[in-house]
Amino acid sequence: MRMRAVVKNGASVTVDRVRVPVPAPHEVLIGVEVAGVCRTDIYAARGLLTCADPLILGHEFAGVVAARGAEVRRFSPGDRVAVMPVLPCGACRRCVVEEPESCPHHDFLGVARNGAFAEYVTVPAEVVHHLPDHLSFREGAYAEPVCAALAVLKTAIRPGERGLVYGGNRIAELTARVLREAGFDGVDVFADGTAPPLETDAYDYIIETRPTGAAFAEMIRAVRPGGRIVLKSRPPAPVPIDLAAALRKELVFESASYGAFGDALRFLAKHDVSDLLGETHPLEGFADAFAADGAGEDRKTFLSCRGR
Ligand SMILES: [Zn+2]
Ligand SMILES: [Zn+2]
Repeated sequence: MRMRAVVKNGASVTVDRVRVPVPAPHEVLIGVEVAGVCRTDIYAARGLLTCADPLILGHEFAGVVAARGAEVRRFSPGDRVAVMPVLPCGACRRCVVEEPESCPHHDFLGVARNGAFAEYVTVPAEVVHHLPDHLSFREGAYAEPVCAALAVLKTAIRPGERGLVYGGNRIAELTARVLREAGFDGVDVFADGTAPPLETDAYDYIIETRPTGAAFAEMIRAVRPGGRIVLKSRPPAPVPIDLAAALRKELVFESASYGAFGDALRFLAKHDVSDLLGETHPLEGFADAFAADGAGEDRKTFLSCRGR
């Protein structure tokens, strides 16, 4: 059987007809309904990330189980599911203490192995989650960004402190919502590049969603002496930071990768995020979807992956 898929092959990205993958004993085969487009997909498409080649792109998705490997018991064909694209190593301390979403040795779906911009994808059953009935496939495909935003709750920031989410994009907006839901009332969002500039020495903490040298200069200026900068982005290359300026103010840098995927699904069950979800393009329109996502960044763009 063959299927349509967005395949990166060297410098070219095209919709190809490729073989439907067969699940290994511990894997499930999922018919992808929708998949979200993310910065990581665009970095991979442009060759900015080290990745498999050829490679089917895409990692944020939801769909329906089509088949399961011989060892899989928890899922059956027809189950609606969402998938955490971090594929944990299973052996490190993080994995053993049940924080596999933050395994530092993970492989990433759609980067290290074939992803979800396709009619079907195989994934290890351990990263598959049942999608609650009242969540749409688009909401399920949005669970990974929510899971990433939830990571800020693992850091040492506290409600009552004066906080800022830095960046004029949907990740900043989503992060601010996650914080407000957790009781962080005093959190502002700053759309970078807008006037007036931020006050100097004003914030107890700043959460970064815009990983550029200029943004770090601004954040280091705006956070108070002894304050905290939380790193949230995954830039494809190193970013220059003025360490002398940070040291002068004795700043704390803390990074946060992912919360728990189950918590992300619970968050989506309670909170309407439809205003953060944008257009759905057909698989063949991936170039438009990539352009829309790279340009605006205010709403999540999706690809419809269903076979027809
Ligand atoms: Zn993503
Ligand atoms: Zn691990």
